[in-house]
Amino acid sequence: MNDETISPSLISAILNARKMVALTGAGISSESGIPTFREAQTGLWATYDPQELATPQAFEEHPRTVLLWYQWRKSLIAKSEPNPGHLALASLEKIALQKGQKFTLITQNVDNLHQQAGSETVIELHGNIFRSKCAQCQRQPATELPEVTAESELPRCPFCGGLYRPDVVWFGESLPGEALQRAFEKSNHCDLFLSIGTSAVVQPAASLPLMAHENGATLVEINPNPTHITPKANYALQDKAGQVLPMIVNRIRNHLS
Ligand code: NAD
Ligand code: ZN
Repeated sequence: MNDETISPSLISAILNARKMVALTGAGISSESGIPTFREAQTGLWATYDPQELATPQAFEEHPRTVLLWYQWRKSLIAKSEPNPGHLALASLEKIALQKGQKFTLITQNVDNLHQQAGSETVIELHGNIFRSKCAQCQRQPATELPEVTAESELPRCPFCGGLYRPDVVWFGESLPGEALQRAFEKSNHCDLFLSIGTSAVVQPAASLPLMAHENGATLVEINPNPTHITPKANYALQDKAGQVLPMIVNRIRNHLS
């Protein structure tokens, strides 16, 4: 895909939107070197299935294994940087705000890369891997937790004695209510919705693009692979987010200059 294959009508739609929403999934971070859950894992944890580790049951049965796996994921994420896709979304937000348009970024990622890229308003649907919370009373620790090793004591909450766990949403858990409510509200009332790097199978986030489309929003998908929302998309850009988003932002800048 190159600059010419981005249709002028898509650029106009973005320029003329009043309220934009972008939803991102693991795909936008894959170009930063963070593996999605669905692709084969490599390295230290290759024999473990993320879909079995990222569950409340796994934490109940083998808390140390789960914490060590998260510590490893966190170290991978801490080493990675926002890629051109993240940076372009932060630019798009800035341009939109300057033009008086509303812009909301909703992410299913827990990696903090949107914030690092400079995005201001980020609704985190699945939490943030750099935060912890008590598995029992949900309180967050006041200071940074010590590293977990094969033998160390597992860090516990001083209020209730519960184990600390990552503040992320595991398979089978419900999403944080307030974030979800804001995400639904923004998606319901937007006139342009960008669905980026998400397979759109994990509910309820997957229903956001379709809901926006049913309410009349222009639906734009950026994903190298087709998903079940592709047939509904007004624009399906089948390439990497790190390629397509900077091209879109450039075209918008050229228009405005
Ligand atoms: P997902 O369901 O969001 O699927 C990833 C999608 O990204 C796929 O459709 C794939 O075709 C697409 N994709 C791959 N490379 C891309 C690129 N360069 N540009 C655009 N699209 C691209 O994510 P998942 O891996 O199935 O994970 C499910 C959930 O697990 C996530 O929603 C998240 O909560 C969690 N998770 C988070 C991270 C993270 O924070 N970076 C990473 C893995 C998993
Ligand atoms: Zn507690």
